[in-house]
Amino acid sequence: MSTFKFTFLGTGAADFPYPFPEHSFDSKARRSTCNLLNGNTLIDFGVHGLKSLEILNKDFNEIENIIISHIHSDHFNIENIGKVAAKKDKPLNLYVSKGVKTKFEIPENVIVTEMEYFKEYKIGDLLVTGVPANHDPNIFPQHLIIEKDGKKIFYGLDGAWLLNESYYFMKGKKFDLMILDATCGDYAGDFRMAEHNSIPMIRLMLASFKTMNITCEKTMVFLSHIAPSLHKSNEELSVTAKEMGCELAFDGMTVEI
Ligand SMILES: [Zn+2]
Ligand SMILES: [Zn+2]
Repeated sequence: MSTFKFTFLGTGAADFPYPFPEHSFDSKARRSTCNLLNGNTLIDFGVHGLKSLEILNKDFNEIENIIISHIHSDHFNIENIGKVAAKKDKPLNLYVSKGVKTKFEIPENVIVTEMEYFKEYKIGDLLVTGVPANHDPNIFPQHLIIEKDGKKIFYGLDGAWLLNESYYFMKGKKFDLMILDATCGDYAGDFRMAEHNSIPMIRLMLASFKTMNITCEKTMVFLSHIAPSLHKSNEELSVTAKEMGCELAFDGMTVEI
């Protein structure tokens, strides 16, 4: 049996100019960031998260925890979190980074925990540590390190490169699964290089991850938070990802490790 079942429910960045199919996931219409881990924990819950859960036909009582990387609207929608909580018998546990609890109104039936950087939290049967991300510093963005039974996931949406302390904290971890921000395409000169990754940046990072034993032979790397307007076609991007030793994530895709 697998330790982690990770389902991508939204793999887009914040450019949503296209219509979404009502009742299905679509490779061309990436919804805002949302992921389901082991059936009971959501990682990020962007503006389309509720729709993604509906497509999955998910019983909200099965959702016990929501962990938020940062409170940008494509990762965090408190109104929809309230709607999930309202349909639950037990309270919903919401985890956000330290410093943001006062920035939103807490809905009924929601218990909020603020996470301090580099401190490990037991969330259900997961051990979760947030490390600072190179993104909008005003909202204390965090990347997540999730461990269970010796297996490890790195979740790095959103952020560019890695910050010094986070990078050295990850040294030697030999992640089983890494999910990397790939907002920008395979070109140089994008202005977002201090908040999002591009394909050339990821190429450099992957080589250094290997040197630092952040990855090893078993590591699976998925590219997510894709801005379709900044990339070539999915087909071309899939080929590029494979050439880098990565996989391109799609809405509805599940990885088991
Ligand atoms: Zn985002
Ligand atoms: Zn963001």
